[in-house]
Formats: sequence, C-alpha cells, structure tokens
Amino acid sequence: MKALSIPDVLAEVAVLVKPHFGKGRPADYIPQLADVPGDKFGMAVRTVDGGEHVIGDADEAFSLQSITKVLALGLALNRIGDEIWTRVGKEPSGTPFNHLSLLEAERGVPRNPFINAGALAVTDVLMNVTRDPAALVRDFGGFLCGERLEIDPAVAASELAHAWQNRAIANLMRGQGTIEHEPEAVVAAYSRQCALTMSCRQLARAFLPLAAGGFSPVAEETIFPDRLTRRLNALLLTCGIYDSVGSFAYRVGLPAKSGVGGGIVAVVPGKATVAVWSPELDRFGTSVVGTAALEAFSQITNCSVL
Ligand code: GLU
Repeated sequence: MKALSIPDVLAEVAVLVKPHFGKGRPADYIPQLADVPGDKFGMAVRTVDGGEHVIGDADEAFSLQSITKVLALGLALNRIGDEIWTRVGKEPSGTPFNHLSLLEAERGVPRNPFINAGALAVTDVLMNVTRDPAALVRDFGGFLCGERLEIDPAVAASELAHAWQNRAIANLMRGQGTIEHEPEAVVAAYSRQCALTMSCRQLARAFLPLAAGGFSPVAEETIFPDRLTRRLNALLLTCGIYDSVGSFAYRVGLPAKSGVGGGIVAVVPGKATVAVWSPELDRFGTSVVGTAALEAFSQITNCSVL
C-alpha cells in the first residue's frame, strides 16, 4: 500500500464516489429493503495490525443478506469439512443469484455456495447440527466482531413472505434429493439468516480472519486453518459478486462478497478488510457506490491482489 494514510484515502474515496449516487436502485423485491434511503454511505477499514478507520454511516446497521452466506459456509466447513463439496460446487454460475435454471441440468447440485441454491444447501447441512441455523450464523458473526448481533424480524418476515423463487429452488432440490429437510423450514431458516444486520465497522472486524491467515485478532482465536482461508478467498474472488464477478475483479481486484442490502466486504490478504455500504444496486444486485468505492480504494492504495 502507498504511504497515504487510511483516513486520507477514505476521505478521498468519499469524494470520488459522489457522482455514482442515483445510478442504481435499492432492492425492491423485499419490501423492507426498498424503504432504506438510497443516499446512505459508510465504509470501514480494519487492518490486521489493529488499525480501524471509518467514514460516513459506518456504524449504522444494515441488512447483510447474501454476505451471511460466507459466515454460513465457514461454519459448515468447520463442522463437516470437505464433505460440503459433495453438496455444492465451486464454479461461478453466470446466472442471477436466485436462478434455478442450472439446477435441473446439474442434478440439484448448485454451482457454488454463494448463489441462493448453494446457500440453501448449506443451510440444510447446518440444520443437521442445530435447530436454528440463523442463530448459529448470528452468534458466529457476533463472536467474530466482538459484539452481539441482531436478526431484523421485519426484514426476515418480509423476505419469507416474498420467497417464492427460493421456495421453488428448495422444492426442486428436495425433489432431486440434494436438500434433506422440509423445504419450507430450510427457506425460513435461510430468510432469517439473510436478515442479520451489521454495521460496516462490525463487518470489517468479522471478516478479518480472511485477511489474517485465519486468525481473528478480535476474537483472539484461530477461526480457519490458513489453507482454508486461502480457499475461501478463492471462492470469494470467483463467485462472491453474483454474475458480475468478472467485471468486479477487473475493477477492484480483491476477493469480496456483496449482498442486496447494499453491503460489500472485501479482503486484502495479509493486510486488511474493507467493508462498504450503500443501498443503491446495479442490475446484478451489487451496490453501485460500494463497487465504485472499493475500486477507488484499491487503485489509490494499490492493494489489488491481481
Ligand atoms: N435474501 C436474498 C435472497 O435470497 C439474498 C440475496 C442476496 O443478497 O444476494 O433473495
């Protein structure tokens, strides 16, 4: 990274992203998310050596949505190890996050754990170890960021009430034998998981093990073996940003995960995590301002891994 201080970089990024407001739209397929003001912007950087820097609405909790899929996968990998890869693949899908078109051709094995079908398979696996996978994910996230986290009940209910596509996916997979539990229970657990909230500051802290060889400086504990950490970052780089992951890698060059709540968390291996939140999304479901912010951050600091 260049000598410019991180607070200076964040201030510069906040100016550079201004022209990008108004280009996207908050998610509207979950009514509760459509109500979040589009002009929100927060960013947090947490370095592996303990530095923490924030700007804007970095302490406002937002809906994590798809970002929770990384926490759920981490838990599943820690609990059942590589066996998870018999249930879900490791390839980019090239289709929108909630599509089921590939499932029928590929016998119910989702392309990767970060599209909805893959996340539903992971939830199904976690249901073997707990009756409440969403609470497990919430508590894992809370452990990693050192604070108690909440699942927003209104967002969870709103999501479940509109989860027709996810129900279709879960039912198809149940029919193909790649989901073992009752589809409605899997969708309900997954919807609650997606409604977990965090601020940018908490998110940057929670993902720090992915930048620190698997060690959480916040929890003061090794969360993942180093090799697994590298593999999780490989999955984020190739599958973390829906079906625009290629152009995201081209622009930002960092492993990252986005969610339709407008959050994106990026990993600078060996150095830092960067969390950004701004609710207006592009047509693929990724924050427009958030992507621009990470692109600017990565260019100014020259921290791209590519
Ligand atoms: N709750 C969302 C869904 O399953 C998560 C989508 C996302 O953030 O990508 O539709």
